[in-house]
Amino acid sequence: MTLSFCEKVTNQLNSGVIVLDLDYRIVFWNNFLAIHANKQFKDVCDLSVYDVFPELPKRWFERKLNGVKQLNSPSFCSWEQRHHLFELPHTRPITTDSHYMAQNVTFTPIEDKGQLTHICILIEDVTDVCHYQTMLRKTLDDLAMANRIDGLTQVYNRKHWEECLAQEFARARRYDADLALIMFDLDHFKRINDNYGHQCGDMVLIETAKVIEELIRISDTFGRYGGEEFAVILPETGIAGALDVAEKIRQRIEDIALLFNEEPINVTTSIGVATIGDDDFRYEDLIAHADQALYEAKALGRNQVAVNKTLIACV
Ligand code: GH3
Ligand code: MG
Ligand code: MG
Repeated sequence: MTLSFCEKVTNQLNSGVIVLDLDYRIVFWNNFLAIHANKQFKDVCDLSVYDVFPELPKRWFERKLNGVKQLNSPSFCSWEQRHHLFELPHTRPITTDSHYMAQNVTFTPIEDKGQLTHICILIEDVTDVCHYQTMLRKTLDDLAMANRIDGLTQVYNRKHWEECLAQEFARARRYDADLALIMFDLDHFKRINDNYGHQCGDMVLIETAKVIEELIRISDTFGRYGGEEFAVILPETGIAGALDVAEKIRQRIEDIALLFNEEPINVTTSIGVATIGDDDFRYEDLIAHADQALYEAKALGRNQVAVNKTLIACV
C-alpha cells in the first residue's frame, strides 16, 4: 500500500487525522482538518501542534502523549471529559452551547521497525451526540423536577415533600438536632369554592403557596400535602422558633388581599406545630402529631396555631 493511497483513504474520512513526530511537529493532516481548521497541510507541515492549536491544554496534552509513548498503547479522550481539544468550528445545522465541534479524540502510537516514531491523533466530530445527549439530560432533569412539583401551586408535591422529611428526620436523629414541622389547612375552603367557583379556589391556593414560599427560609422545605393543606419542614428549629414561623404564616395568610371579580376574598388558616421527640419517633409520627395539633386548632375556632399536646410534655 503506497503512502498516496493511504492519503487518499484518510482524505475521504469524515474525521480528522493528524500525525505528529515525537517533537509534536505535524507531519500529516487530512482533508477534514484542511477544511475545518481552514489551513492546507502545506501551511502547517512541520509546525509544532502548539503553534497551530495554541488553545491546547499543554500540560494535560503532554501528559497524555507521554502516556501513549511510555506504554506504547492508544489513549482516548471523550467529549464528556473535555468537550473539545482542538478549536474546530462545528458545521452542524443545529444550535449548540459551543461554537466548536464536540470531539472524541484517540491517540495511537505508530511504530517503525519496533521503534515508536509518530503519534496519530484521530478526531471524531460528535457534535450531534453531544447535542442530543445534552437535550436528553435536560429533558430527564425537567421530568424529574415535574415529578416533584405540584402542577397547580408549583411547590413540592406530597411525595417529594415526604421524601425530604424522611431525609431531614434521619439527619436530625443522626446529629441529635432540632426539627420542627408545621402543617396548615385553609379554613372553610369549601365555601370559597361553593361561593366563587373552583377557579377562585385555585387562585387562592396559588397565592397562598406564593406568599408562604416568600416567607420561609431557604433551608425550609415547603410542600402541598393535599387539597388545601400545606406543610413546612423546619430543620434546626425548636418549638419556640416553629411557633414564631407558624404565627407569621397565619398572619400572612390573613393579610392576603385577594380580589375575585372585584370582590375581596378573605382567607384564614389553622396551623398545627410539632417538633421531634424521643428516640422512638418516626417521621410519620411527626406528621401525625402536627396533624393532631391542626385538628385542635380547627376545634378551638380556626385561624390559630396549636401545638400537639403530647409534645408539650416533651418540650
Ligand atoms: P375546614 O375549615 O374544616 O378545613 O373546612 P374546609 O371547607 O376547608 O374543608 P373541606 O375538607 O370540607 O373542604 C376542602 C375543599 O378543598 C374541598 C375540595 O373540593 C377543595 N379542594 C381540594 N383541592 C382543590 C383544588 O386543587 N382546587 C380547588 N379549587 N379546590 C380544592
Ligand atoms: Mg380546610
Ligand atoms: Mg383539608
